[in-house]
Amino acid sequence: MLGEVREEIVEVCRRLSDAGLLPGTSGNVSVRVGDHVAVTPSGLDYARMTADLVGVHLLDGTPVEAPLAPTSEMPLHLAVYTATTTSAIVHTHSTAATVLSTLVDELPAIHYMVALFDGPVPVTPYATYGTPELADNAVRALRGSAGCILGNHGTVTIGPDLRTACTRNEYLEWVSELYLRAASVGRPRLLDAEEIKRVADKLSGYGQEPPR
Ligand code: 13P
Ligand code: ZN
Repeated sequence: MLGEVREEIVEVCRRLSDAGLLPGTSGNVSVRVGDHVAVTPSGLDYARMTADLVGVHLLDGTPVEAPLAPTSEMPLHLAVYTATTTSAIVHTHSTAATVLSTLVDELPAIHYMVALFDGPVPVTPYATYGTPELADNAVRALRGSAGCILGNHGTVTIGPDLRTACTRNEYLEWVSELYLRAASVGRPRLLDAEEIKRVADKLSGYGQEPPR
């Protein structure tokens, strides 16, 4: 079941892994479809991931079609689906965002693309991976933002579809890299909330599909 969704998860994992956002077997990805969640298995080499190894579970975690154990961050994925209306979650250990997660309490509005997150991106307190505490921290941050940085750990982005959640994660890493570079040589100028709101409105109509 959910064959296309599971294929799409494999594709997105390859894309993020090739871009260096998922070192080793770190990170995990899921998509919610109705009462079901398709989610990556725990600790599996991304090069060996195939659609049939992406598990399908109920919203309480019960496996429906899952040959391997699900991601250790299953509590986070399920808690976010329970607390929000989002349909896709991407968790990475991308380098720049993770460096920032050890230094600051938020990624400031250094570039207009933080408008994807409606402003500065929160950094949550640290919690051990896979715990309900980590899941709670993420839920709290994601109530007000489409992304957050997990303290001393990595990133989480969400979206109405997997492509959006993935693109948001790529931008989160890119803006984090900008901030690290700028802050390493000076005090970056920041954009104000009014400008971020203006850009957020503009971005809601941004992006095109090729004609069929
Ligand atoms: P899994 O391999 O269990 O998905 O865990 C990776 C991870 O990023 C934990 O936070
Ligand atoms: Zn992680």
